Amino acid sequence: MPAPQKIRRLGDPGLDLNTLVSLSKRRGFVFQSSEIYGGLGSCWDYGPLGSLMKLNVKRAWWQAMTRRSDIVGLDAAILMHPMVWKASGHVDGFSDPLVDCKECKTRFRADNTESYLKDKKCPNCGSKNLSEPRNFNLMFKTHMGPVEDSGSVIYLRPETAQGHFVNFMNCQQSSRYKVPFGIAAIGKSFRNEITPGNFIFRTREFEQMEMQYFVEPGTDEKFYHQWKETRWNFYLKYGLTESNLRFADHPPDKLAHYAKAATDVEYKFPMGFSELEGVHNRSDFDLTQHMKFSGKSLEYFDEPNKKKYIPYVIETAVGCDRLFLAFMCDAYREEVTVDEKGEDTRIVMGLHPELAPYKVAVLPLSKKEELTGPAEKLRNQLAEDFDVVYDETASIGKRYRRQDEVGTPFCVTVDFDSLNDQAVTVRHRDKMTQERVAMSNLNEYIQKALKNYN
Ligand code: ATP
Repeated sequence: MPAPQKIRRLGDPGLDLNTLVSLSKRRGFVFQSSEIYGGLGSCWDYGPLGSLMKLNVKRAWWQAMTRRSDIVGLDAAILMHPMVWKASGHVDGFSDPLVDCKECKTRFRADNTESYLKDKKCPNCGSKNLSEPRNFNLMFKTHMGPVEDSGSVIYLRPETAQGHFVNFMNCQQSSRYKVPFGIAAIGKSFRNEITPGNFIFRTREFEQMEMQYFVEPGTDEKFYHQWKETRWNFYLKYGLTESNLRFADHPPDKLAHYAKAATDVEYKFPMGFSELEGVHNRSDFDLTQHMKFSGKSLEYFDEPNKKKYIPYVIETAVGCDRLFLAFMCDAYREEVTVDEKGEDTRIVMGLHPELAPYKVAVLPLSKKEELTGPAEKLRNQLAEDFDVVYDETASIGKRYRRQDEVGTPFCVTVDFDSLNDQAVTVRHRDKMTQERVAMSNLNEYIQKALKNYN
């Protein structure tokens, strides 16, 4: 195959987030929530391919964390004791400055709206007839039990981290891990964001992947830097382009109340560099607060050195949906080839194979039963080890393109020769090279190829 003359990516003229929104809907990655009722703002559903890929994103993160010998997993409840949010500071301080436009009724955030920061103007209609900023708490409230009085108020968690802090002792004692060790969790969080948007970048319901690493005070700076590096390498391993990543360290006067040091890993989304993940040195703020509010000791006893201390916490926090979006943005490419027949564009979702929804597509060359029978059998054989899709409609060229567009790394074609040689043609997504492989050896072949990718 000749190399394409041109490669176009998101951010190039005519290719932006909308390109991805429409591909996502067309191919079953992400749909607008409650679409048949006109949709619900900023809520999205992951479709047949999206749900597979999201699981893969979570698995990649989960394994990077919990396969280490110093991190345990946790799956805490979304609903927590209301005192948790008092202790954490969320009831009093988890708010954004909200401004109302009195002309067009738009509501926006005072702290990140360019027209407001520059000339105190509404971003929608340009009016200067605006309310003063007032603090708007981002936590969703609900009621626990059948009585809706003030005593039954409970919150949907706005972050998963508090589950780690209140379970610090449970996890440490049950695992018998020694400090330094970490707790990792994946779960839904909810924030009543004033201005959600940019597809799945900022939503009101989202999934977080957070890890809290508990360390001895005095060693926190070392681990903070280690975790910055570890997280950077994770992104490179799963294929994000290095020049699309950068750290944005928080200047000391902009640090959150709990933080001793903080940085954002930023990714260059089509709308510009924006936060993907936060890496924070949270000091002993959280454990100290929970000790104060619960009256329970969360001190760690360092047996060999016979000393007690409240561990410091290094936190890594990334949104699963936001990372999903970053992987999609980075993977999307259009390969343009021009020859005597004209211009041809191949859309490829060049996802890391571990993240791709399907690893293999099985494509019988014809719809004749003598081929579809063995092809379906082969599909079942592959399904023992991989997420696999079967497609017998349209020309083989069209079917290859369908799989390229959703990132399937391997297409397997069952043809008439297969009936004699018991072999199939494996076509690779990126280079479009083809190889003949024995059917009996196919699972092993794919397994190896996936492992050796990079
Ligand atoms: P932002 O400044 O974007 O509001 P934040 O600094 O409040 O984010 P954290 O509280 O540090 O974010 O949350 C950790 C991660 O969770 C973020 O880096 C992001 O990936 C993800 N996240 C936070 N809020 C949202 C949201 N509303 N929608 C999707 N992901 C989110």
